[in-house]
Amino acid sequence: MEGLRIPGPTPCPAEVLEAMARQMINHRGPEFGRILLDVTAKLKQLFQTKADVFLLTCSGTGGLEAAVVNSLSPGDKVLSVSIGFFGERFAEIAKQFGAEVLPLHYEWGRAADVDDIRRALEKEPEIKAVLVTHNETSTGVTNDLAAISAVVKEFDKLLLVDAISSLGSIELPVDDWHCDVTVTASQKGWMAPPGLAMVSVSPEAWRAYEKARMPRYHWDFGKAKSFLERSQTPWTPAVSVVFALDIALEMMLKEGLDNIIARHARVAQAARDGVKSLGFALFAEEKYASNTVTAVAAKEGVDIKKLLKIMREEHQIVLAGGQQKLGGKIFRIGHMGWVNEEDIEAVLQALKAALPKAAVQ
Ligand SMILES: *Cc1c(COP(=O)(O)O)cnc(C)c1O
Repeated sequence: MEGLRIPGPTPCPAEVLEAMARQMINHRGPEFGRILLDVTAKLKQLFQTKADVFLLTCSGTGGLEAAVVNSLSPGDKVLSVSIGFFGERFAEIAKQFGAEVLPLHYEWGRAADVDDIRRALEKEPEIKAVLVTHNETSTGVTNDLAAISAVVKEFDKLLLVDAISSLGSIELPVDDWHCDVTVTASQKGWMAPPGLAMVSVSPEAWRAYEKARMPRYHWDFGKAKSFLERSQTPWTPAVSVVFALDIALEMMLKEGLDNIIARHARVAQAARDGVKSLGFALFAEEKYASNTVTAVAAKEGVDIKKLLKIMREEHQIVLAGGQQKLGGKIFRIGHMGWVNEEDIEAVLQALKAALPKAAVQ
């Protein structure tokens, strides 16, 4: 499918797909060991971190669960800063493992307000960690993570970040912004297929790990670290996805992180300008509109479901609808990873052609 414009999985370049066709190798042998160390080193460059980085064989949600169970104990108070569907998922994971979740939840489409976070942290000194989504894929909003992090660290709390749809596409210097556990996933901005979550673990997160008592086995960061010291993962990894990610990271480093970030900004601006010129409004507060996914508000007279169907069937372009309560209320254009201005131009041209046929009956 050429016109896959959803916010993950995202299209992969041919070189990346070819890497997936490689024969299996011993995941505990020297060749895989070299690739694993190399992939980890490249990820550290793109995370802008000197902290530990691990590959986990799972989707992004597994990475979020790993962040929770390696940092917290049952009964710990955590502040959940949620601006949408994925923020609520992060909170739900913490709740399932017995954390006491204090919600600071915003109307979908809005960004979090740092003053609210400061007030919440002042009011409840026992809060141990703050859970935050950097880029909320369900609403197309990017939080001001630098400002949020500054407040969280003013109070000396642990910062657990869902950066699944931002890292590698939108500026996020993990060390400069003091993120303790940062989670992303291969099928978002990394031009690779689904199958791997990538997480960074700061020294402060390691101190929390020592005291954390939530049950963990498969996600145990201590096991990941001790195996990585031997150039291995604790469990059989998604070998083919590691091959693919290796090539994708090579391409990303060649382009350069600054160029990648600038490209995403340009592409996103083109998407926003384009949908507005078709008479749509953005769903997100424009100041916080995401550079990896554009959420477009439904407009009167247009049947969104029908519009997406026409786009798919007549223009071979797959867009995403709204999740949960946003079903039928928005549609989303994914523009993360392997994407340029021409891809967006094609989406806009197709939307223009499809719109007159998508009128509400
Ligand atoms: C995609 C996404 C997730 C979920 O990731 P899966 O890989 O589907 O488990 C969580 N958070 C954000 C912000 C995402 O974009």
